[in-house]
Amino acid sequence: KQSELKNFHGKETKTADGAAVELFCNIGTPKDARKAIECDGEGVGLFRSEFLFMDNKRMPTEEEQFSAYKEAAEIMGGKPIIIRTLDIGGDKDIPYLNMKKEENPFLGYRAIRYCLGNKEGYRAQLRAMLRASAFGKIKILIPLVTCVEEMRSVKELLSEIKADLDAEGIAYDKHIELGCMIETPSASLIADLLAKEADFFSIGTNDLTQYTMTVDRGNADVAYLYSTFHPSVLRSIKRIIACGKEAGIPVGMCGEAAADPLLIPLLISFGLDEFSVNPVLVLNTRCVISKWTKEEADALAEKVLSLSTETEITALLKANAKE
Ligand code: PEP
Ligand code: MG
Repeated sequence: KQSELKNFHGKETKTADGAAVELFCNIGTPKDARKAIECDGEGVGLFRSEFLFMDNKRMPTEEEQFSAYKEAAEIMGGKPIIIRTLDIGGDKDIPYLNMKKEENPFLGYRAIRYCLGNKEGYRAQLRAMLRASAFGKIKILIPLVTCVEEMRSVKELLSEIKADLDAEGIAYDKHIELGCMIETPSASLIADLLAKEADFFSIGTNDLTQYTMTVDRGNADVAYLYSTFHPSVLRSIKRIIACGKEAGIPVGMCGEAAADPLLIPLLISFGLDEFSVNPVLVLNTRCVISKWTKEEADALAEKVLSLSTETEITALLKANAKE
């Protein structure tokens, strides 16, 4: 198996009938970008910027963030790198931010909600990303979006910061793209509206599964309900990709499920443009993608979508898995 996988190093990522898709990596630190390159990732689909904050005793300054983003962009050498703005709260705590203890942290003041409520800190992060965009193909991704206003507020902040940078004569990518994570049921249901506000989508299946199934992703007692293969989650994914396509924007997936060999044929059928996976799973994902034609994937997806339960769906997918 390992030697079969080696044959996929340096190859394009294509389905069995030759349709190309992008295969990117999820990373947490600038150094991980090296890992993405070594593992033959074609870009970074998710740089979780919160690790910069969690590995610190205080808020990293604009300058510190700028060097981290620049370093990662330079390591990627012109390949796309999607950096997500601070995604804290829920299970990710940062002691020095002194966030209030909440009854329901996963439903609380977190991610984009926190950032828009703390605009000075958020400005520093966006400014660091914009400045770093002069050194590589950086794209900005917004986590936990639930409504159109959040995307509009980020765009407003970005245009203010761009105007400042212009006035100061500081370089940045004037065509930098802004993406929206679709990882809440609300975002999924208004994906048609959000598609008008974003240059691309990235589906976060870890949270989309948690919120769609109403299951804390860290709670073992309800873990039996935590599966991307529930008809509800699969319908949601299908709809998000369709809305992206309808609006003409690319759709990626950066949740762990993007590397799941059982899910991959469905993602091919739905028309996912970009898979973002843990670097060590790049070659396996490329290998699985190479085994499916669109026609076979469509036939399987049609059967899957006619089933009513997660158990039936996973059984069918396992029975049709390609080794
Ligand atoms: C997700 O929710 O699928 C995701 C990629 O983000 P995180 O796991 O960092 O919440
Ligand atoms: Mg998430």
